[in-house]
Amino acid sequence: MSRYTDANCKLCRREGQKLFLKGERCYSSKCAIERRNYAPGQHGQARKKQTDYGLQLREKQKAKRFYGMQETQFRNLFDKAAKKQGKTGENLMILLETRLDNVVFRLGFAASRKEARQLVTHGHFTVNGKKANIPSQELKAGDVIKVKEKSQSSPKFKEIKEMSITVPSWMTVDVDKLEGKVVAMPRREDIDTPIAEHLIVELYSK
Ligand code: SF4
Repeated sequence: MSRYTDANCKLCRREGQKLFLKGERCYSSKCAIERRNYAPGQHGQARKKQTDYGLQLREKQKAKRFYGMQETQFRNLFDKAAKKQGKTGENLMILLETRLDNVVFRLGFAASRKEARQLVTHGHFTVNGKKANIPSQELKAGDVIKVKEKSQSSPKFKEIKEMSITVPSWMTVDVDKLEGKVVAMPRREDIDTPIAEHLIVELYSK
């Protein structure tokens, strides 16, 4: 039996659910969650009683891992969400979803958020015709994301042109042009990430 030593898969096992960190593998029977859905480590299979704090902490960790963010970056985004009008938790989810790396992933231009982040950092995209290599760039309605002309001939993007891609309702994609658009800001109900954001708000409100 193969061992699952992959650090990304351990994160999913810790959270007890798929975080989709490894592209195609996540949708296959090789996924560690399909095969060993319990926490890694010696005591991974032990039943533990969760405290309220434990639940809140886990939810925050899960959100961070889903979107591939560091603690400080995540906390700063939360503070930004809290300053906006409306519900902080929903604001947070919208800010997470409209990051450039997440949008590239949602457009189907990368197999995982991690890959999307790498592609952005390596300068393969433009936003509204301008160079965009910062994964945390916040996008807004009307923004057009495009694979740079120079990058379009790479095997990676040529392959995408052959694919049929379904995107969330708040964006459109044109695979022939390798271009996508944020047509509207997402609402919470448009975001399928399984996160109970109220637990994160409770955690940070202590
Ligand atoms: Fe690994 Fe992806 Fe499955 Fe997570 S969802 S355990 S990253 S294969």
